[in-house]
Amino acid sequence: MTVTVRFAPSPTGKLHVGNVRAALWNWLFARQSGGKFILRIDDTDRERSTKAYEDLIRTDLAWLGLFDDDSVRQSARFDQYDAAVEKLKSLGLLYACYETSEELDRKRKLQRARSLPPVYDRAGLAYSQDQIEQFEAEGRKPHWRFKLSHKPIEWNDLIRGHTVVDTVSVSDPVLIREDGQYLYTLPSCVDDMELKITHVIRGEDHVTNTAVQIELIRALKGEPPAFAHHSLLIGADGHGLSKRFGALSIEAMRDDGLEAAAITSHLAKLGTSDPVVPESDLDRLAEGFDFAKMGRAPARFDMAELEAINARLLHETDYESVSDRLDALGVSKPLWDVVRGNILRLDEAAEWRDVVEGEINPDIEDAAFLKQAAELVPDDPLTGESWAQFTSALKEKTGVKGKNLFMPLRIALTGRARGPEMALLFPLIGSVKARSRLAGDKS
Ligand code: GLU
Repeated sequence: MTVTVRFAPSPTGKLHVGNVRAALWNWLFARQSGGKFILRIDDTDRERSTKAYEDLIRTDLAWLGLFDDDSVRQSARFDQYDAAVEKLKSLGLLYACYETSEELDRKRKLQRARSLPPVYDRAGLAYSQDQIEQFEAEGRKPHWRFKLSHKPIEWNDLIRGHTVVDTVSVSDPVLIREDGQYLYTLPSCVDDMELKITHVIRGEDHVTNTAVQIELIRALKGEPPAFAHHSLLIGADGHGLSKRFGALSIEAMRDDGLEAAAITSHLAKLGTSDPVVPESDLDRLAEGFDFAKMGRAPARFDMAELEAINARLLHETDYESVSDRLDALGVSKPLWDVVRGNILRLDEAAEWRDVVEGEINPDIEDAAFLKQAAELVPDDPLTGESWAQFTSALKEKTGVKGKNLFMPLRIALTGRARGPEMALLFPLIGSVKARSRLAGDKS
């Protein structure tokens, strides 16, 4: 058996940390098992699906390194869905219903008022021929429901363990709307069968759907895949993420300068018993993938933690692996080696390039002290020892030490109160620039 998984986004919005986590876990599992990762574009909703969102999904996945082995689009597979519909009709498992959404709403309200679960009453199964003719004469079109068995459906969930959903408490799902459009359930089952999906890894908001889908796949004489339902992400404040999806889209994070590997490192481990560590190699993340480590409780997504992982990752990033991007920023290897431990985003390295090569505007407090310092700057080439030699000479000459010695120098030389070690920056700034900055010349 070749492990085959799918990630099935609807191209009706952007990928965000919530759904990309499912993509990543599917990808990692496939990779670990030497299996296949299929991208399935769930675009049966013709009004809301767009090509632009589909393109963005592909761009985001490629940026994250989650390349697919195959990809299908549901809108190209209507023949297969139509065939499944015929099969279900011939088995007597698909029935027409004529209620409007207002009528269904009213039914549910009534059930709630009587403390009954809002489960569809199967009125559609009991229509007389007269009633059907009456509906048709009114111009109503039927929607089609799948008749559930009303039995408990069980499976051994790879994350949740033994799981049971009694379909008595579930409404017969609508598979086809009155305008003929397929809803998600039937195409998903047909595709899972035909693409020989072995494992479905997705959020626990799909647990009830899974019971329905197991029944539907069995009705179509298929073998249901294994299921793994992971807990959902919540915000650092304990609330759901949905309202903030805009800011949490992968596109927004890319535009904000975060590293793809920071996102994959973070999301691979969030909600598992493993610590989150920066890992730029997806294969190594795949080696550690284990359903047994996944927790049942909702996992908290905190942007500050992702940013911290981003910084830690940059700290460990070799010049060679990002040289294209650094070249574009005009950042050399020596500069990168000095600043990478002090930045949160890669493009901040360009700010340090400006500090080293460009003009700065420091707030000078003690110009006389700095003029004395300027005279003691050693000649080029400055080395790793130059800073220690320079500052001890200055200390000897002026008697100033500690913070009072170092802070004015740092500010005069970099325009900033914080940053990489001065011993490392000093040779990059060079003696000519250092002298003129200390002497208060404009540069
Ligand atoms: N298009 C569905 C969704 O985004 C797919 C769910 C599934 O994995 O089956 O929720």
